[in-house]
Amino acid sequence: MGDHKEPGFATLSIHAGAQPDPATNARATPIYQTTSYVFNDADHAAALFGLKEFGNIYTRITNPTTAVLEERVAALEGGAAALAVASGHSAQLLTMHMLMQPGDNFVAARKLYGGSINQFGHAFRNFGWEVRWADPADPQDFAAQIDERTKAVYIESLANPGGTFVDIAAIAEVAHSHDLPLIVDNTMATPYLVRPIEHGADIVLHSLTKFLGGHGNSMGGILVDGGTFDWSKQGRYPMLSEPRAEYNNLVLHEAFGNLAFALGARVLSLRDLGPAISPFNAFMLATGIETLPLRMQRHCDNALAVASWLKDQDTVGWVSYPGLADDQNHALQQRYSPKGAGAVFTFGLRGGYEAGKSFVEGLELFSHLANIGDTRSLVIHPASTTHAQLTPEQQIAAGAGPDVVRLSVGIEDVHDLIADIGQALGKIDG
Ligand SMILES: *Cc1c(COP(=O)(O)O)cnc(C)c1O
Repeated sequence: MGDHKEPGFATLSIHAGAQPDPATNARATPIYQTTSYVFNDADHAAALFGLKEFGNIYTRITNPTTAVLEERVAALEGGAAALAVASGHSAQLLTMHMLMQPGDNFVAARKLYGGSINQFGHAFRNFGWEVRWADPADPQDFAAQIDERTKAVYIESLANPGGTFVDIAAIAEVAHSHDLPLIVDNTMATPYLVRPIEHGADIVLHSLTKFLGGHGNSMGGILVDGGTFDWSKQGRYPMLSEPRAEYNNLVLHEAFGNLAFALGARVLSLRDLGPAISPFNAFMLATGIETLPLRMQRHCDNALAVASWLKDQDTVGWVSYPGLADDQNHALQQRYSPKGAGAVFTFGLRGGYEAGKSFVEGLELFSHLANIGDTRSLVIHPASTTHAQLTPEQQIAAGAGPDVVRLSVGIEDVHDLIADIGQALGKIDG
């Protein structure tokens, strides 16, 4: 015990945000499956609606089960506050809705989750929000694209699709030298491996659907406000720095200080756009997080063992996993994520496209599907599935050439995983 005061990561994963239920003494967090909450009296109702007092009104905006999930993830990321929503994509949408006006732009890493590339490049364009792509390995490429209408910089800490670590601190420096917030999607790393706020991130996003929930059974997303960014600059972020008519001309950053972004995302963006998470999913995801440190370490240990084994196979042309000592991303991994290199990586089959298809069909324990971050081991051959619509040149540029196989290594016994891969490789001709 001694004199240390701050609870550790594993303790926070289980206890942060939760206490025995005040109404029933239930130890596990109850699922408050209700849409709405009775006011104590008319003055109480008026105070809640005017943001003079915090309390529950309607589950689109707050719910006690969801609040446990929010406090827990905020604690694990070292943030000031968090807002949980229906999916990772809706967390991205609400974040940008808080920051962007029509005609504004943001600079994003070119290597992102495929769904984010679609959302930014197509859906956001309809709102008049422009994305500018930059090379995540080159911080100066971000700087070169910033102009007076740029409102944010956006990266993934551990980038899709291949699983490479990004120099968060270097990109944070570029963003901050232009008075811009750095937004980091930390889905693939989770706060067990990387805590982006410690490296300069101002807002951290997650698809809770993946490793945080961890069991492949519930969709959810969350935004974490680091409480670090100054939103006061006149005219720059009108949602945060200008009087809101719907709340008696309240100015969010003046009223709520370092909680202004998370609170504004709740009382303006979530209230009006509406992608609320179900209390049941919040319960499932908060329960999943209780075992996050155990699961993530096992994911990393299994992935390293599988990657090391793959490197020695004749049918395998190359393996790209930052945990391997000779990988070009190994130094960044050691710096940002010394506990492990994550669960997701790619490798190449010498037999190319046909070998890739035959391999995914030959696997028995790995599931062939388009997801990551399940307890189960998952596999996909991008060139015949997620990236099939691209030209061969685009496929190669996206890291999805004909020979590429992507694994999300689960937490089964690693000798079973290697045996399954071995038998599937054995079925490939050549
Ligand atoms: C899955 C994923 C998303 C989108 O999250 P959903 O919960 O599917 O909406 C965003 N970023 C990354 C890195 C992801 O893996």
